[in-house]
Amino acid sequence: MSKNLCFNNFFIHKLANKNLLINDLGRWVVLSKKELEAVQKNSVGSALLKKLESGGMALSKKGQSQLVKDYRVRYGHLFHPVSLHIVNPTNRCSQSCLYCYSNSQGISSKKKGLDMSPETARKTIDFIWQTPSNGFVVEFQGGEPLANFPAIQEMVGYAKSKRPKKKVHWRLVSNLTLMDNDIASFLKKNNITDVCTSLDGPKELHDANRPMHGSSYEKAVYWINALRSDFGFKQIGALCTVTRKSLPFAKQIVDEYLKLGLPDVTAVSLRKIGRAKPNWQKIGYSPAQFFGFWREMVDYCIALNRKGIPVSEQTCSILLRKILSPERISHTCYSKPCGAALMQCSFQPDGSIYSCDEGKAESLFKIGSIAQSYKSVFASPAALNLVSLSSGLGLYCNNCKWTGFCRLCPVTTYAEQHSLIPVLPELFECRLKMLQFPYLFEKLFSNDAKILEKWSKKAAVA
Ligand code: SF4
Ligand code: SF4
Repeated sequence: MSKNLCFNNFFIHKLANKNLLINDLGRWVVLSKKELEAVQKNSVGSALLKKLESGGMALSKKGQSQLVKDYRVRYGHLFHPVSLHIVNPTNRCSQSCLYCYSNSQGISSKKKGLDMSPETARKTIDFIWQTPSNGFVVEFQGGEPLANFPAIQEMVGYAKSKRPKKKVHWRLVSNLTLMDNDIASFLKKNNITDVCTSLDGPKELHDANRPMHGSSYEKAVYWINALRSDFGFKQIGALCTVTRKSLPFAKQIVDEYLKLGLPDVTAVSLRKIGRAKPNWQKIGYSPAQFFGFWREMVDYCIALNRKGIPVSEQTCSILLRKILSPERISHTCYSKPCGAALMQCSFQPDGSIYSCDEGKAESLFKIGSIAQSYKSVFASPAALNLVSLSSGLGLYCNNCKWTGFCRLCPVTTYAEQHSLIPVLPELFECRLKMLQFPYLFEKLFSNDAKILEKWSKKAAVA
């Protein structure tokens, strides 16, 4: 290399007969056999140098500022306060889903401490208002949040009276089984029209995964339709959690979503936390089994796109966005470090604060309480250690070619392996990513690239 230029760190990977160079920022270039040999012999000509430099594989004085910019964009979440405040008004629920990570209690449970009191509801809003940010999301989850609707009303009403005024994007994550006209009208009136629900597929599958007294499927479908048609809600999203029972139904699940006018399917793999842990023998699967399901779903969506039916799988869209663009993904679980205690946090009915909503399943992920100051919670050793762990720095991930697109989930790592230092080759998520990334690159090198590029633009960036 010339004296003004040196190689960046990169991985060389042969895939689908192509030579792929990937750096740890997730930028990549494809080299011909001849070009790769030239790199390996350190005898690159000026045209190849230019290619390596613009692809981020070679560093020059001129290219330095671009590199700094790329880092700032990719890691922008390190410079912003928490954007997603998840509030759990209750830990009771109308359903008893086999995989519930909240380990929710029955709807009629009288156990103490399951519901957030009006006072804690107001203090939670007071705590959130300490954020230096002027705009953020407050998302109600649970349990089933509508099981303690008075706490939601209290928070929304109290937030209106708070000064300074802040731009709040309210969101509701609900199984919709407790929805009624009065609640829907309140939500509409208060601009809480971003609603996400669960839809695991056709009736038999959904009801088996999400048991309740009566059909959880019928309630969910009724309210997905009614919120849109009778109340004018525009943003109704749904997540499909995949259990072992779902595995043969990849195509039927997509068809079910299309039948309901939902053009985005998100196949969520199980995490061994909450109720999924004791139920694992019944509902769990291997990474290869989940991957087979997911690939069938993605392939089917692609085939439908070819016929002019626009439908996509959202995990695929997010991973593609990471591969195709340096932008920062707004989904907190796909950033690196992940969003735990950095982009999101989760408030419990008793006022305790966890790193993220999944984190509440393990006491280790408690980072503070609403009785403390905002700063002391997010600058606490508990919070900062998590951020450091999730970055994967110092771990085997640093030597992995997919590191620029990947990240580690401390919560699932701990739940699976009872340690925060993972044995990566045995970790579900790592094994799954090792299958997903090569598949996605192969697709990007195929005739389906245009469809996938379109999907990638659907993934929200911050
Ligand atoms: S710890 Fe896991 S679940 Fe929590 S934000 Fe990070 S990736 Fe998501
Ligand atoms: S989790 Fe696995 S696939 Fe992801 S970067 Fe680490 S080693 Fe690679």
